[in-house]
Amino acid sequence: MKIQGQNIFEEFLKVPKLDEMKNILCVQPHPDDVDLSIGGIVAKLTQMGAKITYVTVTDGSAGTLDESIMGSKLSSIRKREQEEAAKILGVSELIWLDFEDLGSYTVEEVRVKIVEIIREKKPDAVLTVDPFLPYEAHPDHTKCGLATAQAVLFYRLPKILGGSCEKTVKIIGFFNSSKPNTIFELTEEDFQRKMKALSCHRSQFDEGTLQMIASYFTIRSQIYKTNHAVETLKILPPIALHVFPEVEQL
Ligand SMILES: [Zn+2]
Repeated sequence: MKIQGQNIFEEFLKVPKLDEMKNILCVQPHPDDVDLSIGGIVAKLTQMGAKITYVTVTDGSAGTLDESIMGSKLSSIRKREQEEAAKILGVSELIWLDFEDLGSYTVEEVRVKIVEIIREKKPDAVLTVDPFLPYEAHPDHTKCGLATAQAVLFYRLPKILGGSCEKTVKIIGFFNSSKPNTIFELTEEDFQRKMKALSCHRSQFDEGTLQMIASYFTIRSQIYKTNHAVETLKILPPIALHVFPEVEQL
């Protein structure tokens, strides 16, 4: 859809390129979400020298059909898996917020933790799941995306934590977005690193599932008419996160 004055808004809401960012915070609901959705982008950015920190909101304790490992046992397994995958992708640091997977924690509780981390780490870009994805039914995903977007909107306000801080966040990028505005064609090397990282999440992906994932990202290359596997983001400036109806189309 072409909206009237779109070019004017694009100019007004112009953002720097993600690959110019040097200090990037990736906030995910569960261990594996970033690797699954944008592991190739992470591989590319770390290769280019960016420092990437993962923040995982939940403890990942519910992601199983096997009741005997559900809970703290699975949580420890998934943390080890994420550590292993992070090494492959060149991720510098892992922060765990340890909210209960599928628990009754609130967006506000997560938001204050993310504000604390933004103030400490001073990222120039923050990436997270798109909480506005139509039909997204997983509450950990909607809460994580909303809490992170709100933290990017409010991190400088004394209301949240007292005091204030300098403005550092230049862009917010949403993965799993139904309205992506930035397409990343992965090199074969970055795609293979992503798949290798995903294979570390053994508690989540068996061989058949890994093959399905590889096919999905490759089929996307036909949708976007490229010869490479594709990952996407909706990248916005923080100012776009409040009272801009046109942002959906940008
Ligand atoms: Zn998840």
